Amino acid sequence: MILVFPRLYGASTLEMFESVQPHMGTLVRIQLYVTGAARADTAFHAAFARIAQLDATLSDYLPESEVNRLCRSAAGRPVPISPDLFRVLSAGRRLSEETDGAFDVTLGPVTGLWRQARQQRRLPDPDTLRVAMQRTGYRKLHLDAATGTATLDEPGMQLDLGGLGKGYAAGEALAVLFELGIRRALISVSGDLAIGDPPPGRQGWSIGAGSPGRVVILCNIAISTSGDASQNLEAGGVRYSHIIDPAGGIGLTRRITVTVVAPHGIDADSWSTALSVLGPERGLPLLEKHPDIAGLFIAGGGVVESAAWARLQYSRAPL
Ligand code: AMP
Ligand code: MG
Repeated sequence: MILVFPRLYGASTLEMFESVQPHMGTLVRIQLYVTGAARADTAFHAAFARIAQLDATLSDYLPESEVNRLCRSAAGRPVPISPDLFRVLSAGRRLSEETDGAFDVTLGPVTGLWRQARQQRRLPDPDTLRVAMQRTGYRKLHLDAATGTATLDEPGMQLDLGGLGKGYAAGEALAVLFELGIRRALISVSGDLAIGDPPPGRQGWSIGAGSPGRVVILCNIAISTSGDASQNLEAGGVRYSHIIDPAGGIGLTRRITVTVVAPHGIDADSWSTALSVLGPERGLPLLEKHPDIAGLFIAGGGVVESAAWARLQYSRAPL
């Protein structure tokens, strides 16, 4: 379904158009300013097509996605993969190394059990979980840039790109709009946003960040939020997040929400997931090594900001 709401903007001929479609297991929303509905329709079509293409590449829900075919064929032998998949796996692998494995795209066997557990509303069986953990580990994923191939060390490994695929897709869809000459645009793939030039007459897009009333004004950047508000499992009075600590294979039990602003969607998305695992104690020192990435942690009632976050252009929503 396509919803288009043209809105005349002042005396200029630019109009705001918005369209929402289901992709990647969530709703994708595109807002843009152009002249005329025909141009907006062309733009929506191209941007959503790019997102659908990336879903067919990166989804672990679609049996025939490229990543699932890779998991079935790459045990012990190099398999050529598309540039998109190579880029996403490389970014994941790099962040695994930097976070000492707190971010790990090879967690698929374990995240699969937790997904099932959420549906059945009971904790995964500990023995099954232990066996699944043996099929994980980012060092078992090998990428060769020279040949554009990926190799997995063992059969039964499963890649899960849920921690960075949506941010990558948001950024890539925005790039499609830029190629069409449309720069005043915002793409939201659930909690992962890619942001272009500001709306006409404004300094940026107002984005809610972290807690009610907190707003940042952003342009030409990406922002992602990770938290357990929407997907979690309650068992024995404990709430388990859909984000898993690879150290033990258990969903995070600490209440934490992390918002990250970064130049590219894939970085905002992957860092927000990784920092949720690390928490501010271990995460902040890592983050401070990247002056172009800003983070806001809300955990245990406290708020922790990185130095770059404090520098973001900042405002508060009217109460
Ligand atoms: P996000 O909503 O971007 O924070 O990503 C959460 C999703 O990433 C989960 O639903 C899993 O698919 C995947 N995931 C869970 N834990 C991790 C982790 N430690 N490292 C990488 N991906 C993870
Ligand atoms: Mg993420």
